[in-house]
Amino acid sequence: MNDSVTAAPVIYWYRQDLRLADLPGLSEAAQSASVLPCYVHDHSAPHDWALGGASRWWLHHSLDQLASDIAGHGGQLVLLQGETCRVLCGLVRASGAKEVHASHAAEPWARSLQRELAGSLRQLGARLVLHNGSLLFRPSEIRTQSGGPFKVFTPFWRRCRGHTAPAEPDGISKHLKFFGGDVEGVDIDALGLLPSNPNWATGWESHWQPGSEGADSAMQQFISKALSGYAEDRNIPSVQGTSRLSPHLHFGELSPNRLWHTITALARAQPEQEGQAEKFLSELGWREFSYHLLYHFPTLTESAFKPEFDRFPWLGSAELLQAWQRGQTGYPIVDAGMRELWATGYMHNRVRMIVASFLTKHLLIDWRSGARWFWDTLVDADLANNTCSWQWVAGSGADAAPYFRIFNPTLQGKKFDASGAYVRRWVPELEALPKKYVHEPATAPTSVLEEAGVRLGENYPQPIVDHAAARQSALDAYQSIRD
Ligand code: FAD
Repeated sequence: MNDSVTAAPVIYWYRQDLRLADLPGLSEAAQSASVLPCYVHDHSAPHDWALGGASRWWLHHSLDQLASDIAGHGGQLVLLQGETCRVLCGLVRASGAKEVHASHAAEPWARSLQRELAGSLRQLGARLVLHNGSLLFRPSEIRTQSGGPFKVFTPFWRRCRGHTAPAEPDGISKHLKFFGGDVEGVDIDALGLLPSNPNWATGWESHWQPGSEGADSAMQQFISKALSGYAEDRNIPSVQGTSRLSPHLHFGELSPNRLWHTITALARAQPEQEGQAEKFLSELGWREFSYHLLYHFPTLTESAFKPEFDRFPWLGSAELLQAWQRGQTGYPIVDAGMRELWATGYMHNRVRMIVASFLTKHLLIDWRSGARWFWDTLVDADLANNTCSWQWVAGSGADAAPYFRIFNPTLQGKKFDASGAYVRRWVPELEALPKKYVHEPATAPTSVLEEAGVRLGENYPQPIVDHAAARQSALDAYQSIRD
């Protein structure tokens, strides 16, 4: 073992940035010494926001892939578990490292943790160096003219687009050399991230390839197959019209900068794709907006952005919540979405909006209950995007949809799943219903239902609420907080 790799290393603390390329903190760490890469699985630090089941599944596979990428470069990813500060300070003492590099986090609990860690390291004569590894722009860079945070998306995005472009992705640092000393970590299975009994993630490998290689191929596939029709197809849940990059972006397997520059360069080379590329970049903009909002308004996960919504008279029926979670509402597009979520850890964006609107407006169930369910079941569960999107749909968020615009789930189904292909895929009980009734089986004549094998109330539920009555109750409830 040569001296350069056994001299005191610099620690790279992986968080939601599980990659080797385009990682500013890793590149800078590699400039000064050999790098000791580690990941700390800490159950207690996130408090109420410990990883949900689907995220744990993803994390297991993503860490596994990262470990093998690092091994391919002659290093070892050290997996640790326990209280982050205690564990990392132990690693600093054992290795003699004077610096710990990492990416900034946006979650309020993670920001407190990084402050606490910086203090503990200081007492050991070491320091924490944080880098912008997960966002296009630092929240402190994007401000209104008066210096405050943006609360409306369009001017926010205009300011981002007028700002100096995000840093060019720089691949894997040519200085990168991993630490060669012996450091004891735990085996990945000891983290206990995978579901066991029952294993509800059976078959998920056919839907997803966690890790940077999977991220790369998802990006390439999107560019070659879906980008050219993105602006139109992104609303059709039965076709793969979007990138499905959200879990890769959440876990940082792909840098937003790389995605931005790849799409921008493509639009420059193929001007006919410019409109589609712009639309896609603006969705990355919504991700950015959500992160910046959570950064500036850290209570958003618990409190409404518009405070009057904290007085909203939610009904909170446990029975209705369960029907929604299980995809048994009697509204086919809602049930299809909830079942896609359970079966794959993902739901199409259009359908997320429909099911979230149905929960908060038709069932009058608090958006926080829906956000919790998504937190546990989405592979892309992301505190910033999930919180801001739920508040957006519920009407309580920044730049939210006006509350009185209440989706009619039947019309939404007919509009965005006109052939019924999405419903037929996820609600097989309705597979044989003709197109005319697949989004409203309750209106089908008995003979049609019989022929399709649908027995309402037996093998498929009657609608759990009446749309017109539910809509009126929602409007009355809204009026009560305005009064
Ligand atoms: P694409 O259309 O290909 O978009 C590219 C990327 O842009 C996405 O991967 C994502 O990072 C970002 N993006 C797209 N739409 C949004 C949006 N509305 N807000 C913020 N970022 C966006 N997204 C999450 O990543 N995690 C969540 O936990 C999450 N929860 C949501 C909850 C609700 C109720 C709703 C309505 C939306 C939620 N979204 C969430 C946003 C959006 O639905 C997903 O990002 C998108 O469906 C992911 O699919 P995609 O990667 O194919 O998207």
